[in-house]
Amino acid sequence: MRPYQLLRPRSVEMAVEMMAAHLEAQYIAGGTNQIDMMKAGIHRPSHLVDIAGLGLDRISDQGDVIRLGALASNTVLATDPLVLEHVPMVSQTVLEGATQQIRNAATTAGNILQRNRCPYFYVPGTRCNRKNPGSGCDAIGGFDRLNAIFGTSESCIAVMPSDLAIALRAYDARVRVIGPDGMRTIPFADFHRPPGDTPEVETDLRKSELILSVDVPKAGRLASAYHKIRERRSYAFALLSVGGAARLTDGRIAELRLAAGGVGTVPWRLPQVESALIDEAPSQEAFQRAAALSRDGAVIGRQNAFKLPMLERAIVRVLTDITET
Ligand SMILES: Cc1cc2nc3c(=O)[nH]c(=O)nc-3n(C[C@H](O)[C@H](O)[C@H](O)COP(=O)(O)OP(=O)(O)OC[C@H]3O[C@@H](n4cnc5c(N)ncnc54)[C@H](O)[C@@H]3O)c2cc1C
Repeated sequence: MRPYQLLRPRSVEMAVEMMAAHLEAQYIAGGTNQIDMMKAGIHRPSHLVDIAGLGLDRISDQGDVIRLGALASNTVLATDPLVLEHVPMVSQTVLEGATQQIRNAATTAGNILQRNRCPYFYVPGTRCNRKNPGSGCDAIGGFDRLNAIFGTSESCIAVMPSDLAIALRAYDARVRVIGPDGMRTIPFADFHRPPGDTPEVETDLRKSELILSVDVPKAGRLASAYHKIRERRSYAFALLSVGGAARLTDGRIAELRLAAGGVGTVPWRLPQVESALIDEAPSQEAFQRAAALSRDGAVIGRQNAFKLPMLERAIVRVLTDITET
């Protein structure tokens, strides 16, 4: 691991200044991904700016939105009364991730900024455009069972692995950031970038910008569920997952929000499935017909075609759960 200097700012503004002052500085929150990346030699910061202790760990009611502090731990997100009442899918997704010990340390912002889990990203000596831009991608045509089928490019097919991000995408959350040029808000839909020709640029964050919070519109009137399929019961990332929230009026679906994990290079919203079901009465037949639309735009590789039927079944299961009265 490259030697680094640990910096402890006393305010948010000081944290941003410290980052801006050093070209190769990086933030550290819970450290559960950052330290792994440094041990693997993928992150090589000269300075680490420690943002714990800056008062960014609160969860608050801001009227129309629940504000999730960037430094709130995943354990707190999973159990907080405001989260459970107003944005329960946040809790449902977080509880399906990692382990209790990791959730104690992991934070809101760190979770949505965690790096991908493509094996070729980690193994030394492999070609990976995220690790070494322009080197090529050994996952394409290689071991691609875990890789994405949506939002891919000729440069990269890595999945964005966060469970929490699926709830935030379904709820249309917004990310509040501060940087050298002041504060701004990024719609969650635009926060993660599909790889295109520049897979090393993973988010809309600019140099030195610090996430302050993620604001989630209240959705307490919607029933929600998260279904995660993985290769073992705990300590495993999603092979595939679906999160959904719905509201029925007079026996028909009046509002529906669906997003999928384990299939996209970014958290994958399913608008075509949503719109096919608006004003429909819930039924297995309607669910199956709509779920079949989830295949639109899929690009399958050597070993991941199984994700298409699996995605349809997961969608039907979540729709069934959230429309049962
Ligand atoms: C064994 C294991 C299993 C796991 N399983 C799952 C799983 O099933 N599902 C899942 O979703 N996740 C899983 N994770 C990932 C885990 O959730 C993340 O490692 C964690 O959420 C990262 O949060 P952190 O606070 O530790 O971030 P850090 O590791 O501290 O930081 C991660 C990145 O975010 C940046 N960063 C952090 N905070 C900010 C901020 N406020 N502003 C700007 N940049 C910031 C850092 O610079 C760094 O680049 C697993 C991790 C491990 C180790």
